[in-house]
Amino acid sequence: MSSQSASTPKANILVIDDTPENLNLLSAMLTEQGYKVRSVTKGSAGLRGAQAAPPDLILLDVNMPQMNGYEVCQELKANERTRDIPVIFISALGDVLDKVKAFAVGGVDYITKPFQLEEVLARIENHLTIRLLQKQLQAQNAQLQQEILERQQAEDKFAKAFRSSPNPIAIATLSEMRFIDVNPSFLKMSGYSLEEVIGYTAAELRLSQDDEAIAHIVQLLPETGSLYNQEFEFRTKTSEVKIVLLSIELIDLDGVQCALLIANDITARKHLENEFISLVSHELRTPLNSILGALDLLGTGQLGTLTEQGQKFLSIATSNTERLTRLVNDILDLERMKSGKIVMHKVKCNAADLIIQATEAMQAMADTSQVKLNTKPLSVELWADPDRLLQTLTNLLSNAIKFSEPGDTVWLSAELKSKGAFTPTLNTLLITVRDKGRGIPSDKLQIIFERFQQVDASDSRKKGGTGLGLAICRNIVQQHDGKIWAESFLGEGSIFYVQLPLELPNND
Ligand code: ADP
Repeated sequence: MSSQSASTPKANILVIDDTPENLNLLSAMLTEQGYKVRSVTKGSAGLRGAQAAPPDLILLDVNMPQMNGYEVCQELKANERTRDIPVIFISALGDVLDKVKAFAVGGVDYITKPFQLEEVLARIENHLTIRLLQKQLQAQNAQLQQEILERQQAEDKFAKAFRSSPNPIAIATLSEMRFIDVNPSFLKMSGYSLEEVIGYTAAELRLSQDDEAIAHIVQLLPETGSLYNQEFEFRTKTSEVKIVLLSIELIDLDGVQCALLIANDITARKHLENEFISLVSHELRTPLNSILGALDLLGTGQLGTLTEQGQKFLSIATSNTERLTRLVNDILDLERMKSGKIVMHKVKCNAADLIIQATEAMQAMADTSQVKLNTKPLSVELWADPDRLLQTLTNLLSNAIKFSEPGDTVWLSAELKSKGAFTPTLNTLLITVRDKGRGIPSDKLQIIFERFQQVDASDSRKKGGTGLGLAICRNIVQQHDGKIWAESFLGEGSIFYVQLPLELPNND
């Protein structure tokens, strides 16, 4: 009959009734069903009992001397501790039960005499179940409230950290790099207002010298994971270029994949570093030249003949001094280019001539390394600084030869391309230097264009490089409004692309 299982502890029921027969009958009935029953004959005693140890349900007689059932119920409902206990009114035969009042004072049900065992039990169980569900709901609600509070606190903490961070921080969609939010430090660094940034993409704001490179890195983020402290050039609203270390983390915002970008403005530090490097390089150049002169003189034998071992050491000293001189010259070259002290002397020139000249210049190195040079010149007019473009091509060829094996081939070719898929006119020249050498790991394809960046720390020693060649190439190409990038497969070779615009200036 009872829906409660034997293992479930039975509920506590308080019976308040001034008629002993009723009390006895109900107590006996309920106790038999396994409920724990307390019974009192006075309303005041019932209130005290309920207060001291709140029962799960109260059966309350309507007609009692001193304090009637309605009053007791009102008191119960007025008290925090007893408010939620379900109260079922009992009215004895001949009593007048005011049902409306019973509900109005907070009763949940009523039973009239003569009691029918099944009915009484069914009503009690119903209300106990309702009360249990209510309690569960309340507990769930409290837990939800707590979770909301904790979440709110965490969000508040993040919002505070986001707003007051001295580091520029931005959140952008991963698909387009469209800004969702940026912090005040970001606005301060960029010179933009919030309205000028939110809803726009990094490319639309032209924040980077190399939007495509950043877009590419961001696209690869789901595979490569986060990016940590990579150096980028950042363009402010007033076109000032700042150097930043950028870290990018993938985050999920309401189901949208976003990039959390945290920047560290190192422009001032970088300037100091550059100044220091160029100062030291300058100071090194004069003594280096004099050492080279002295070594040359020793080599001529005018100051006495050297032994064979002396000659060997002299040649080691000369080649190392030459390498050092190359390094110093490259550093100064790059620094002067970056600070705008070297301007490109652009003239009308032919791409085919440059390609042939670059090949001729590198032929000796290719022969020594037993690498075949395969060139496909393309006759097209360019508006460029021929010496600097030649420097770029020879640098790329020199790398391709350096990282090839004897017997390999290096290709240098050029073709016309349209700028974008929707531009029908062929308005850019794409020069390609391809090798079948050792290749470059994909995570290094961007970074090798930064100064002193080499795939292998031993490259400079083994291959005689300085780690500055590609940084210089990039600078030259950028000053021609072009782009340079690389593709590579480890062990299969690399392709370096130089894309240059073909439009001649209007006044030409
Ligand atoms: P370096 O003077 O060391 O050649 P670069 O800036 O020209 O300096 O090149 C940087 C690094 O990029 C090289 O040290 C090498 O690790 C890598 N690299 C450049 N070109 C190639 C290539 N064709 N194949 C493999 N690695 C290359």
